[in-house]
Order: sequence, then structure tokens, then C-alpha cells
Amino acid sequence: MSKTLERPKYPDYTGREPCRSTDPEAFYCEYHNPSLKKSLAKICGGCEIQAECAEYSIWSESVGYWGGLSAPQRRKIRRERGIILNDELRQSAVWKG
Ligand code: SF4
Repeated sequence: MSKTLERPKYPDYTGREPCRSTDPEAFYCEYHNPSLKKSLAKICGGCEIQAECAEYSIWSESVGYWGGLSAPQRRKIRRERGIILNDELRQSAVWKG
């Protein structure tokens, strides 16, 4: 029996989230700097909409640090849930030739 997965709605971002007052580049350097990753986790941990942001990003974002989750963490969650993003499908098609 197949299960229907429901894409979450776009979070109610207000523009006052802690990441808005942080260098946006920092959210795309996650793989190379463990102390930066810790700082990002702390920033997202203090955000009122972290859960919504994380869930939305699982369904929508293949790169960057969102909602307290790194890209590899979101990929793992997607694999476990059977979610495939369009750009991951395209990459897979390219890799397979
Ligand atoms: S949880 Fe999302 S909105 Fe909140 S600080 Fe982190 S990236 Fe920004």
C-alpha cells in the first residue's frame, strides 16, 4: 500500500528570523567548518519557526543549512521518507548518463 506524502506549506517567514541578521554566505559553507556549523545550529536553535523551516527545507532545498539541518542531513531524511527533489532527479539522470 503506498503512502501519500504531503509537501508542507511555505513557512511564515517574517524577516526577523535570526539568520536574517547573519552573513547569508555562512549558511552555504557548512561542509568545511565544524565550528561554523555549530554556530549555525545555535542560530537556528533560537528561531521560533525552526520546525517549519526544517520541514520545508527537507522538501525544497538541496544545498545550504536550513532549519538546523545540513544538506546531508536533509538528504538522509529524504531517503528515509522516500522524497526525491527535482534537482536530485536531474543530477541522478546526468550521473546515469
Ligand atoms: S530555522 Fe530557518 S528561518 Fe530560522 S534561523 Fe534557521 S534558517 Fe533562518
